[in-house]
Amino acid sequence: METKRMTLLKGMAIGGIAMLTAACSDSDDNHSDDAVHKDKAPHAEKSGGHPAAAGGHAAHWAYEGDGAPHAWGVLKEEYGTCGTGKGQSPIDISTVTISDISEIEFNYKSTPLELTNNGHTIQANYHTGSYITVGGKRYDLLQFHFHSPSEHTIGGKSYDMVAHLVHKAADGQLGVIGVLFKAGDKNKVIDKLWANLPTESGETKTVKNTRINALDLLPVDLTYFNYSGSLTTPPCSEGVNWMVMATPSSISEKQVKQFTDLFPLSTRPVQPINGRVVRVSN
Ligand SMILES: [Zn+2]
Repeated sequence: METKRMTLLKGMAIGGIAMLTAACSDSDDNHSDDAVHKDKAPHAEKSGGHPAAAGGHAAHWAYEGDGAPHAWGVLKEEYGTCGTGKGQSPIDISTVTISDISEIEFNYKSTPLELTNNGHTIQANYHTGSYITVGGKRYDLLQFHFHSPSEHTIGGKSYDMVAHLVHKAADGQLGVIGVLFKAGDKNKVIDKLWANLPTESGETKTVKNTRINALDLLPVDLTYFNYSGSLTTPPCSEGVNWMVMATPSSISEKQVKQFTDLFPLSTRPVQPINGRVVRVSN
């Protein structure tokens, strides 16, 4: 196998493919991402300010205030990895190794539209039966959700939005696909989602007679960046198989704004690479 390292510059293309930025992840250990976070409070309460308090009255995690990302590791004992982990996500994807990584085989079916506002993002819940196979391993699709701007950056550049498609293998490993979105043409799937946005934290909307398919979020070119990282939300568990699509899909500026009006902040800053290798298919 040919292995070459190359450095990505802003807007650089690999093999004629415009490089994009990448994703993030979130999920509680057993569920997926941000999605299943049980905290009721959408944003950190401006409590009296003992973020790491032993008493169990720590701030809720958030993207600003007492519960901001730099404090996640001390908010709760079970969030410790957010502060001490050496394999955290997101990262800036700037140096990649070209290698013969497996193609992702998609076996997604349509699912009834069910959206949850979990206080951190909008999550589309997926019925069982949809999965990917990569390197001979099956990962079942649980849900997908969004961040704006993108969490992973490519060559230092972030994208307007990212979808994280959260999967879980039989051995418990999470596999997250990041689909970057660049402002341009309106996105038809996002249109269906945003027409049914649950605006209250903790609210779930099920829309009868409307089905969606996560396949419709993917770019035509399925070249991807692969590395080992973590959830991008507490508890920041590591061992996540990250697959960040190198080519962005399109979304309109208005669609981005519809999301950021609800969630002005939803992005964890990039984390140190610590010697990890990011691979891209040859
Ligand atoms: Zn995420």
